[in-house]
Amino acid sequence: THLADYQKAINENTSMLLKVHTSNYHISGFTKSVSNKEIAELAKEHRIISMEDLGSGVLIDFSKYGQKKEPTIFESLSSGIDLITFSGDKLLGGPQCGVIIGKKELISKLKKNQFLRAFRVCKMTISALEFTFKQYVDEKVAIEKNPTLNRILEPISEVFKRAEVLKNLLKDIEIDSEIIETKAIIGGGSMPDATINSYGVAITSLDGKQVETAFLKEDTPIVGRVQNNQFFIDLKTIHSDEYSIIIKNFKKFLERV
Ligand SMILES: *Cc1c(COP(=O)(O)O)cnc(C)c1O
Repeated sequence: THLADYQKAINENTSMLLKVHTSNYHISGFTKSVSNKEIAELAKEHRIISMEDLGSGVLIDFSKYGQKKEPTIFESLSSGIDLITFSGDKLLGGPQCGVIIGKKELISKLKKNQFLRAFRVCKMTISALEFTFKQYVDEKVAIEKNPTLNRILEPISEVFKRAEVLKNLLKDIEIDSEIIETKAIIGGGSMPDATINSYGVAITSLDGKQVETAFLKEDTPIVGRVQNNQFFIDLKTIHSDEYSIIIKNFKKFLERV
């Protein structure tokens, strides 16, 4: 897409230029896109509104922590775009909701629209979002306390530690396993082409398919993966209070076979 494509498309019926972030897909090859700044300037020239649907909405520059660069809300705002929308849920790590920010006069207009009533969120959503934003006041606190951010930005040594704990707990109940390198993927349709180096624990002494099937039927199902007929669990999404659930499932499995 070139700036000329926007220019050519503007006519007397145009009231807004909208740019939508490619969140859950990735276009590669010979491609081009127009910057927010250019879109904002073109819109101003034509006295129409510019808007960016940012999708994930991150407040922290991920590239500072070795992750793939995602445009931040502040960067988008400072480009001069009038309105920005982003998800409260995806990379922000808050409740499922949509957020609209931007020029005060446009926000006031939106607030007066009858549609707002149909789309308004409840008090629980607002208080969860407020809680999430408050954590962001201190970037360090956000990274430590927000589960989504924490798991995306934590050092890989932390994942390895969890893998060692799980391996040792399995050894206690006489299950052999080994720690393997894995690639974790950020879900929720937010970063389709970014992977995070991670560690998993692969069970070497049990039939992978049998474990997988049994674990899906448990009261608390565990979704692992099977590779080379070995069941493995990626530690990226395992919290330290969840080892007991995993061990309980393995104990039950051992009783049955
Ligand atoms: C995810 C996404 C949405 C919808 O976000 P919600 O989480 O449902 O509020 C809209 N636009 C883009 C570009 C997205 O990535």
